[in-house]
Amino acid sequence: MSLSAQPPFACDVHTHTIFSRHAYSTIGECVAAARAAGLELLGSTDHYSCMTSPTLHVRDYQYFINFDIWPRVWDGVQVLRGVEADIVDLNGNLFGWDHMLYEGITGRAFEHPHTLKEHVWRNIDYAIASIHDKTFADHATLAQTTQMYVQALDDPKVLILGHVGRTGVPFDVDEVLIAAKEHGKLIEINEHSFAPHYGQVCQDTCRHIAERCAELGVMIATGTDAHIACDVGRFDAVRALLEEIHFPSELVATRSADAFLGVLANMH
Ligand SMILES: [Zn+2]
Ligand SMILES: [Zn+2]
Repeated sequence: MSLSAQPPFACDVHTHTIFSRHAYSTIGECVAAARAAGLELLGSTDHYSCMTSPTLHVRDYQYFINFDIWPRVWDGVQVLRGVEADIVDLNGNLFGWDHMLYEGITGRAFEHPHTLKEHVWRNIDYAIASIHDKTFADHATLAQTTQMYVQALDDPKVLILGHVGRTGVPFDVDEVLIAAKEHGKLIEINEHSFAPHYGQVCQDTCRHIAERCAELGVMIATGTDAHIACDVGRFDAVRALLEEIHFPSELVATRSADAFLGVLANMH
């Protein structure tokens, strides 16, 4: 077994393809990279957010609505269909939640209109809820931002809170972690958050969150947040951190495909 395939690195559940527009690889290239890295499971989680389109037109999001054609096992790698969805307000609502759709990609009217979020999320296995534009939270209280994350966790398809240590939005760490634990959901420890340009404060925050997960018995997801295939499965900083703090491997949901799929099946 290659080193990269050893726990907690059997799954990479936060990755991007060219659909995200500032990423550079196709889903096929990401699958090939996952296989080469010895991963059992790849989660593809492109931005479901205003970042990919200036409009909320359904045609700009059709990439997500044809997920059914992706093989469940591709080149020996289990492939999950995800999104990284933006939290857009202090109520923890997720992108597209209030945008009604009246027609599909061909222009034909729906019998039952529904929201863009409902339309896209029908075909996904899980969502990572993240913040990329934190302006709406700039003057919020700690109670408000904490409640925002707790509300986001309430969504039945949100499995992971993404890169909470690098977003720059302060919140009550213990309260959010305990809410995740109660739902059987995951806090992400994100490889990209350790990139030098995010600085020491970001690294310290991520470390503190990982330590509290260990102490409170909260499960984590490891994700590279790869925006190019050669970064898929590369967990150098996350590996070093988890080893350094003696993070319990049974709390790493991404330690094996079976473990991750078990969490996915049992979240509530
Ligand atoms: Zn992100
Ligand atoms: Zn991402």
